[in-house]
Amino acid sequence: MSLSFRFGTVGSPTATPPRPGGTVGGIQYATSIGLDALELAWVNGVRVGEATCAAIKKTAEETGVALSVHAPYYINLNGEDEKWPRLRKYLMDAAHFGSLAGATDIVFHPGTYFGRPADEVLKVTIPRLQGCVDELRAAGNLVTLRPETSGKAAMLGSLADTLAMAREIPGVVPCVDFAHLHARLGDGSMNTYDEWMAALDFYRQSLGDETMQHLHIHLSGINYGPKGEKNHLVMEEADMDFETLMRALHESGAQGRIMCESPVLEVDALKFKALWMEVSGEGE
Ligand SMILES: [Zn+2]
Repeated sequence: MSLSFRFGTVGSPTATPPRPGGTVGGIQYATSIGLDALELAWVNGVRVGEATCAAIKKTAEETGVALSVHAPYYINLNGEDEKWPRLRKYLMDAAHFGSLAGATDIVFHPGTYFGRPADEVLKVTIPRLQGCVDELRAAGNLVTLRPETSGKAAMLGSLADTLAMAREIPGVVPCVDFAHLHARLGDGSMNTYDEWMAALDFYRQSLGDETMQHLHIHLSGINYGPKGEKNHLVMEEADMDFETLMRALHESGAQGRIMCESPVLEVDALKFKALWMEVSGEGE
């Protein structure tokens, strides 16, 4: 019986053997240890060619591993007008080569508010993002663009921001990083059943029942201060109540992918998978 969620890592598993190595080796290793998703960490730039993409796609199809891409960190939907063409290219390159590699979802950090109110910033960022989707569709590229919830209150990417973008633009759906949501306000909030359920209900009410079957989730432990995220942590070192989060996801009927970003990537990805099976009763 297949599970409601696929599990994987952001970046190839740490213990991926050196041969054949690369993303092809990462996919093969992921599937050998019981993972069925991988997010290609193109976070410092998109540096792949068409032949590499074709090899990645072939391996993913053969193994049944679902692929996504984490686009470069430099994207900022709220960047200055003169910088926007360059910033936009990071997202478009990730979407173009990601699609060639067989990825269905392109995750990106939406950027910063530059101290401006969220509603004003969204007036700038939504048309820009719409323009990106329009250009991709015109080129026959069907990837879903996933603005990720951010770990700092000063960064564009509250759950409300990402849902606003998704509501306005077909083809845009949030990447929900629950660790970031927990760290974002810096006060320890977003760590209870009621808070997770409220977030999931908000998501459902914003985007509809059907989207609950295609959640794209980032998960890790997280260290934070008053301004939010400091760094990601191993599952056991974190104050996050992962079991309760899994219960809320199960209660919501959520499905999709849970991608681990902890420092011990595949170790915690497998722990999240085991926890999900325990909480949901699936796979027994
Ligand atoms: Zn990210």
